[in-house]
Amino acid sequence: MKKKYLLAPGPTPVPSSALLAMATPIVHHRAPEFAPVLKEVQEGLKYLFQTKNDVIMLASSGTGGMEGSVANLLSKGDKALVVVGGKFGERWRDICNAYGVETINIDVTWGEAVDGSIVKKHLDENPDIKAVLLQASETCTGVMHPVKEIADYVKERENTVLIVDAITGLGVFNLPMDDWGLDVVVTGSQKALMLPPGLAFVALSDKAIKMMETSDLPKYYFNFKKELKAIAKNSTAYTPAVSLIVGLKDILSMLREEGLENVFARHEKLANATREAVKALGLTLLAPNAPSNALTAVNAPEGTDAGSIVKLYREKYGITVAGGQDHLKGKIFRLAHLGYSDTFDVVIAISALEMILAELGVDFEKGAGINKAMELLSK
Ligand SMILES: *Cc1c(COP(=O)(O)O)cnc(C)c1O
Repeated sequence: MKKKYLLAPGPTPVPSSALLAMATPIVHHRAPEFAPVLKEVQEGLKYLFQTKNDVIMLASSGTGGMEGSVANLLSKGDKALVVVGGKFGERWRDICNAYGVETINIDVTWGEAVDGSIVKKHLDENPDIKAVLLQASETCTGVMHPVKEIADYVKERENTVLIVDAITGLGVFNLPMDDWGLDVVVTGSQKALMLPPGLAFVALSDKAIKMMETSDLPKYYFNFKKELKAIAKNSTAYTPAVSLIVGLKDILSMLREEGLENVFARHEKLANATREAVKALGLTLLAPNAPSNALTAVNAPEGTDAGSIVKLYREKYGITVAGGQDHLKGKIFRLAHLGYSDTFDVVIAISALEMILAELGVDFEKGAGINKAMELLSK
């Protein structure tokens, strides 16, 4: 037997209370028993998104929420400004292009955050930009982009919206939607929301709802107007993912009980311990300047292939971590610490890393990583 650990940036482990809730018999989505579930979930989502507006739930992975955001707000030939600093930034660009939206791409070196002043410069030079699209946390590189700064530039422009992929940001660090003036916030079920994959969530500001009125891009399942109308009647346009929503109810009450501030503080503590432990082992971070608290991307030590580190984690220790993508393949590995993640998940990740580095013949001070992690985690 080998005990399995999921320490990848999605899907993340699911708490047993949510697993049990999802194992109960299916309720009909139009039956009276489901109405209070939908209502409670809607309230919980507003708390999580920090918004007064309704939050749309879609039966899709997170990308469906991204695609729907483009299809429901923009129009053919519109111009969008996209921050491309990793695979998920590329996804925004590609979705826009697939729908005939012209993109101005800010190509950011993978591992760095976008420079907010460059966003501002583009907005000043191109007053016809309809939307700015970026990741709050670029999971491909472990970078956190300066969402608040960019929101400040966008919110003073009447005809431009800010669309944020917060799939590894929401529920990890503070992203107060209404307070900062974020227009569209997208997340998915299988990251900080600690659920199996299969749900996407989208919240819209009043400005975004207004922009939807003029959008002429094709849409059918991902029709936000239809969903908002349904939510107003405490319903959904189509058959919702009933079991996942029953699990979500459990998760949202867990988050509420912990309190958002404590949720953010827990992620900060785990992220900080991971980063410092890795550094104590003599390794370097891919994104030292703007690290996301969702995950830590680590450069493989000189002369080692990150792929063999990921492989040893999985095959020898039953731990799933993520490798690098595209040109970072073989160069980095990514340790996640989001969602249903706590002190001993970090201890597991770091102690296994020490065993792996030793096996690969890497020169490092034995115990330095785990000692640093224990010191910071016990504070
Ligand atoms: C996981 C993730 C997505 C969505 O991926 P899906 O596989 O469609 O759920 C999008 N953006 C970011 C930043 C992510 O981490």
